[in-house]
Amino acid sequence: MRILVTGAAGFLGSHLCDRLLSDGHQVIGMDNFITGRPGNLEHLAANPNFTFIRHDVSNFIFVPGKLDAVMHFASPASPNKESPFGYPNLPIQTMKAGALGTHNTLGVAKANGARYLLASTSEIYGDPAINPQPETYWGNVNPIGPRSMYDEAKRFAEALVTAYHDFHKVDTRIVRIFNTYGTRMRLDDGRVIPNFIEQALNHNPLTVYGDGAQTRSFCYVDDLIDGIVRLLQSDETRPVNIGNPIEMSILELAQTINRICGSPAGIIMKPTLQLGNDPKRRQPDISRAREVLGWEPKVSLEEGIKAVLPYFKEQLNLL
Ligand code: NAD
Ligand code: UDP
Repeated sequence: MRILVTGAAGFLGSHLCDRLLSDGHQVIGMDNFITGRPGNLEHLAANPNFTFIRHDVSNFIFVPGKLDAVMHFASPASPNKESPFGYPNLPIQTMKAGALGTHNTLGVAKANGARYLLASTSEIYGDPAINPQPETYWGNVNPIGPRSMYDEAKRFAEALVTAYHDFHKVDTRIVRIFNTYGTRMRLDDGRVIPNFIEQALNHNPLTVYGDGAQTRSFCYVDDLIDGIVRLLQSDETRPVNIGNPIEMSILELAQTINRICGSPAGIIMKPTLQLGNDPKRRQPDISRAREVLGWEPKVSLEEGIKAVLPYFKEQLNLL
């Protein structure tokens, strides 16, 4: 297949390009580097099956030649206001990537008769009133809160994908991605795993926001990408949660990372930046992925964290 991947210079987009290329596809990567980095694609520069187009997906998209699939991953993704790469500091760009970017990429898919896959998110469930979250749950989202630029853009994106599916008969897929970590994440994008690993490797105390009782469920990148590729190849047009169902508190995560990194510096509690909007619990119900994709994650948190440490050490010049 000949596949357009937007957000290709980001964390997930670059891993997705690698996987699609190793499966024998031709890949066109698109990115404007607002949160991604050219270095994430450096290793593909000489690959004849990979081409790159620097472009903002919020503007009309033209890709020469026939496409078989479009995978829309372009969007800032970190909720942390303390990072310049967090979506609270890029609110209009985030809404445009989710709304106009989804519209433009759907237009490309429609014009090509191509399959379309949207990278959606567990954030569409907001601060969920039920745990774990199945795809049938409609969510609990504050439309004007500190995460609204992201949550509502992704909810609009899902609605637009559904409209193109039902009205224009585009062959669509929606993956709802839960917290994922791996190499190529920016050290400074403010998400919890890069923050904690950087702090632990520098023997600084880990900054736990709020009381640390809020939970998340962390998926290793290779597991996630495998689930997404299975979804693209399946006939499932309903949304599918992909994530690791092992839930833990942020305090527990901090203790685990300090232990694995051998950091003696402990933890400091900081006031939450989220004004009561930090989801209190998050855990994917992956029954649908198990049933229709035959997928479940394989890599434990301990194995995954150990696997990414050399990358973070290199970023910090600690090797
Ligand atoms: P990332 O910031 O590393 O990657 C996003 C990429 O999109 C970056 O390279 C950025 O430059 C690019 N981009 C943003 N706006 C753009 C625009 N207007 N035009 C072109 N390129 C643009 O983040 P990520 O973690 O790799 O996230 C990728 C996708 O997966 C996002 O859509 C995000 O919402 C979704 N997602 C990620 C997670 C996760 O845990 N990593 C969880 C849920 C959903
Ligand atoms: N968090 C934290 N310390 C940090 C960064 C994040 O305690 O240095 C918390 C954050 O408040 C949230 C959880 O970790 O409860 C996950 O945050 P992340 O930014 O990774 O993504 P989210 O799942 O909130 O979208």
